[in-house]
Formats: sequence, C-alpha cells, structure tokens
Amino acid sequence: MPVRPKIRLFVDQPLGEGERVALSRDHANYLFNVMRLREGAELALFNGVAGEWRAEVVAAGKRAGEAVCVEQVANQRDPPDLWLLFAPIKKTRTDFIVEKAVELGVRRIVPVQTEFTNAERIRQDRLQAHAVEAAEQCGAVFVPEVAELRPLAKVLDEWSERALVFADEGASGLSSRLSAVLTEAAPPAAVLVGPEGGFSDAERARLRGMEQVVPVGLGPRILRADTAAVSVLTLWQASAGDWG
Ligand code: SAH
Repeated sequence: MPVRPKIRLFVDQPLGEGERVALSRDHANYLFNVMRLREGAELALFNGVAGEWRAEVVAAGKRAGEAVCVEQVANQRDPPDLWLLFAPIKKTRTDFIVEKAVELGVRRIVPVQTEFTNAERIRQDRLQAHAVEAAEQCGAVFVPEVAELRPLAKVLDEWSERALVFADEGASGLSSRLSAVLTEAAPPAAVLVGPEGGFSDAERARLRGMEQVVPVGLGPRILRADTAAVSVLTLWQASAGDWG
C-alpha cells in the first residue's frame, strides 16, 4: 500500500479518484493557519465508508479550501460489530470513554441512563466530534456513531439477539465467566458498563435474567467506570474481536 500522509481528516463527503472535496472553515483554519499547509500539500481524507485517500490541496483560503483525491491509500475496514453501552459520568471521563472506545474498536457508542446515572443530559454533538478526532488520530477509517442518551430500561426492552457482556462489579465465579466471553459473546455483541454509583439491584437482576447477557467480573477491585470500559473492551477485543 502507498504511503499514508500524516495529516488525516474526516470529511462527510464522497471520496473517489479525482473527487473534489470542499474543506470546511474549521478544516481550513487547522490546515492553513495552524499547520501552515499550502496549495500542493498532501493530506489524507476518510469519510467512514470509502477507506482512506491521499489528496492534494488545490485551494487554501483563510475560511475555506479544496482538495482533490489522488489515490486510495487504505481500504475501508470496519471494526467488529461491537457496541459500547455506558452510563455517562463526569465530562472529562466521559470524553475519555468515547475516545478509548474508538481506539479499541467499536461500531456504535450508546450512552444509557441507569438508575444511578449522574448525568441527565449529554452533548451528543460534542461526543460525536470526539469520536471523529479519535478516529483521525488513531488511523481508523471508521467513525462509530454516538447515539442519543436513552434509559437503559428502554434499551433493554428492545434488545435483540445481540450478546451483552455486562461488567458486573457484583459478579462472582469470575474466571468461568471470563471464558464465557470467548464462547458466548461472538459478534454481534455489546458491552455494558455502569456509572460511579453502580447498578441498582433491580437492574442487576434484570440483566442477569436475560438470556443474551454474559456477566463478567473484572477482578476483585472496584474499577472506575472509565477503567472498566477500557478493560471490558480490551477483554472482548482480545478474545472475540479483530486483534487476533
Ligand atoms: N459504586 C459501585 C461501583 C461502580 S464502578 C460499587 O461500589 O459497587 C462503575 C462500573 O464499572 C460498574 O457499574 C461496573 O460496570 C464496572 N466495574 C467496576 N469494577 C468492576 C469489577 N471489578 N468487575 C466488573 N465490573 C466492574
């Protein structure tokens, strides 16, 4: 595969040989003011569906610009069909969870409101922008959608056959459940991490009663929700995902 340019940008536009791509005000500012690129400079573009393209800057204005796609430098590669369900916590820790989920590889990020969730609202657009930035930075050509915040109970009411790996701080007999991730949580799957306050007894009972749910303990210590999210995603990716 040809060399991939260092600067990578996500653009919500079609990409293909000879395709002209309009650069937004934000992108123009970053490329031409911050990074000091000029006409003729190279950058990489991806749009989440068409792999990665080497493009050449053909117009470098203060508030806008244009690039032309030259050649495809990476094929489209989607992460395994894994969703992350998590209860939003404090702002910077929530940002961290979104960023790490993109790096570790998920298809969809679903914020859920549990009984003990501290956050009533999320800034979905901000979290989506974080997901884009993380993908730009980590070389991914796929950007997971950050869904709207929904009550966990509603999400579970509509749950499909998808396996749901539930990070359960109250799980016992841990080692046997860890091995279950290997055998019972093949894609399509999801992982679920609770808020700082943990899950309520009712939530835990409901989850444990669902056929699709694989409760998993992550060791004898109580992890913070952001640590738990990274741990359970790592566990799933290493056993059932695209790392091997
Ligand atoms: N306040 C709760 C802890 C919540 S930790 C308590 O004291 O019990 C936040 C979330 O991280 C939990 O809901 C769970 O999903 C996950 N988590 C933390 N530690 C874990 C562990 N040892 N095993 C499995 N999940 C864990």
